[in-house]
Amino acid sequence: MALKKEQINHILRKYDEKQLKNRRELQERENEIFSTIPAIRELEQELASNAVKATKQSLLGDSNALEELKNQNQSLREAKIALLSVNGYPADYLTLKYNCPDCKDTGYITNDTWLDEEHILLSKNKCHCFKQAVVDLLYTQSGIQNAIEQENFSTFSYDYFSRTYIDQSIGISAYDNAINAVSKCETFIKNFDQSHENLLIYGNTGVGKTFLTNCIAKELLSSAHIVIYLTAFQLFDILERRKFSKAEQDYDLEEKFQGILNCDLLIIDDLGTELSNSFINSQLYLVINERLLTKKSVIISTNLPLDDLSKHYSERIFSRIASNYIMVKMFGEDIRLKKAFAP
Ligand SMILES: [Zn+2]
Repeated sequence: MALKKEQINHILRKYDEKQLKNRRELQERENEIFSTIPAIRELEQELASNAVKATKQSLLGDSNALEELKNQNQSLREAKIALLSVNGYPADYLTLKYNCPDCKDTGYITNDTWLDEEHILLSKNKCHCFKQAVVDLLYTQSGIQNAIEQENFSTFSYDYFSRTYIDQSIGISAYDNAINAVSKCETFIKNFDQSHENLLIYGNTGVGKTFLTNCIAKELLSSAHIVIYLTAFQLFDILERRKFSKAEQDYDLEEKFQGILNCDLLIIDDLGTELSNSFINSQLYLVINERLLTKKSVIISTNLPLDDLSKHYSERIFSRIASNYIMVKMFGEDIRLKKAFAP
């Protein structure tokens, strides 16, 4: 995907901010530890001075001395971890953290350190997180990055699902149903690269559909997949503008269209809220069918019951979904209301 210079700079500035934030946080942890466990400061100083000595020895080519220093440093590091552990701190407490360990928050994985900012995009070694940042910028979907910080498997709670609220048509409680739904989502994630499954998550407003979708997005983003999240309204807006807009906008829209067809996971949120017409029907079919053919997964969430879905869209769309998507029904009391009135 091609970007303008200011867009590249915007993404690279975000990386600088991440690096700065992580270094500042490490500094704060060091200050805390050095004041509570002074012996660790001495170990750190010794490690630093050994590193300087090691550089000298490697220049001099004294491999025995170098080996000796390596062994010393190994013992010093072990002593440091032991001291941290005795005082109740995790072993990596004094290690610099990265948002993306794969590229160490630089955005690209390359040994070509001569690359300047403009050439980074031309490099074949852009990190997956850079590609995702491009997608986020192109589709202005920064919202999902914020959403997945709040809504992910570590914050998901079954407490919002009632054990006494029973759906008569399937005869199980909202609580048991949520357990089944999460299990389907976990399988979807586990098999993502092998089975290319698709999910249709359906149910009333406020029963956790978007939350579940965000849980999946978070897991797949952190395992280096490119995820595009669009509401049905945004999706059809892009498809419509691509079809009917004037030539000068076509390039950007074509890029977006290719992304919709080719990203690892396409999430279409709130299907059924848009006005249905023959154009929408043909475009939705195109996207769904193309991604099925190329084995690329889709998650659709909708408030429509299955019966309405079949009335809302053409027979060929419904049959593609019915035969190729795993159905995940969600129900219960409105979670947003429950959260709002929680003590
Ligand atoms: Zn990265």
